[in-house]
Amino acid sequence: MRIVYVDNNATTCVAPEVFEAMVPYLTREYFNPSSMYEPARRVAEAVRQARQQVARCFGNIRSSEIVFTSCATESNNTAIVGVAKANPQRRHIVTTAVEHPAVLEVCKEMQRGGYEVTFLPVDRHGNLNIKDFVRALRPDTLLVTIMHANNETGVIFPVAELARITKETDPNIVFHTDATQSVGKLRIDLAGEYRHVDLLSFSGHKLHAPKGVGVLFIRKGTPIRPFMVGGHQESGRRAGTENVPYIIGLAKAMELAYQNLDEENRRLARMRDRLERELRNRIPYLEINGEGAPRLSNTLNLSCHFIEGEAMLFELFEHGICASSGSACTSGSLEPSHVLTAMKVPFTAIHGSIRFSLSRYNTEEDIDRIIEVFPEVVERLRRASPYWDAKRNAPREEAYHLLQEAVAVH
Ligand code: PLP
Repeated sequence: MRIVYVDNNATTCVAPEVFEAMVPYLTREYFNPSSMYEPARRVAEAVRQARQQVARCFGNIRSSEIVFTSCATESNNTAIVGVAKANPQRRHIVTTAVEHPAVLEVCKEMQRGGYEVTFLPVDRHGNLNIKDFVRALRPDTLLVTIMHANNETGVIFPVAELARITKETDPNIVFHTDATQSVGKLRIDLAGEYRHVDLLSFSGHKLHAPKGVGVLFIRKGTPIRPFMVGGHQESGRRAGTENVPYIIGLAKAMELAYQNLDEENRRLARMRDRLERELRNRIPYLEINGEGAPRLSNTLNLSCHFIEGEAMLFELFEHGICASSGSACTSGSLEPSHVLTAMKVPFTAIHGSIRFSLSRYNTEEDIDRIIEVFPEVVERLRRASPYWDAKRNAPREEAYHLLQEAVAVH
């Protein structure tokens, strides 16, 4: 069976060029970059070049501002906990209700430790309200941590503007963004438009590098203490022997992603828009989550009223299609997605959500296959749904009223 992999916001395959670049460092160039002999210095030089390569993708920043970590979760933990350790006087954090658990749970942990956290709401499209944001900033605000693009819906927050507003309000508030879903998909000039961002996190495996490597950008002068302590690696900002092959892979993946970014984004948007249009034409009672908001061009999150996302996933995989319901981390739980809950997706639709996320390895044939299979899957599941009248091929009267009420309430 041909696999159609459309779950690239969960993880991506390693690009062949990335694998090739890594191989020497998994085999003959195995030396510890901290060692003093010549072969080890060669490895240290390769890490130095990888750091420069990553820095170049963010505009004209210093390569010393790039710190390699094991993943975005580690980068986010370092950012939030590290900033709190550096400035214990300030005890208030601003974030959003729709962050990935790698930020949300850290903020809740901070709350348990006595910090006050403001979780900003979003509207029906997934957008933040800038006035709410401005009102949330206080004299004791330590940190703002707001994601760049949402992993479930692809909705993009105006991070450059939010960072600017933060610094205009109080230059001592540290601004962090979890850019795990946007790095490699959007241009982020940390020396230009994004110059007010102090800290930025991401993981390699969302952009065709392997799992197990990430980055925390730390702007020079940002008050932050290390999270991982031990050796002197990464200039004392992240202890632990460098994961050299993966760092080399990450740098190569960044180079590839930014080589053709605009053209690739146009291609992805064309495929995603066609999928959205065709599914909308074929499936009644469908919601596009994040419609009307700026969105990543690779992401389509939709909800089918009156059916279960898990059942759709199972049936799709019977046809070789790998997608996801909610975020990868929350699928498998019976709780509806916290992102769609925050967006007030009607309760008749919230359990029937599914996310298709594309990458440069997806083709028009993949889209054709989903268009061929998915509407049939929805129709079959609806026929088995207690809310659906199979004879009329429409929701039962009472389900229809539920839907009307749910939409009216929101
Ligand atoms: N932040 C966002 C927005 C994500 O999408 C993810 C992964 O899905 C993470 C953080 C965590 O990444 P990792 O599991 O690589 O640490």
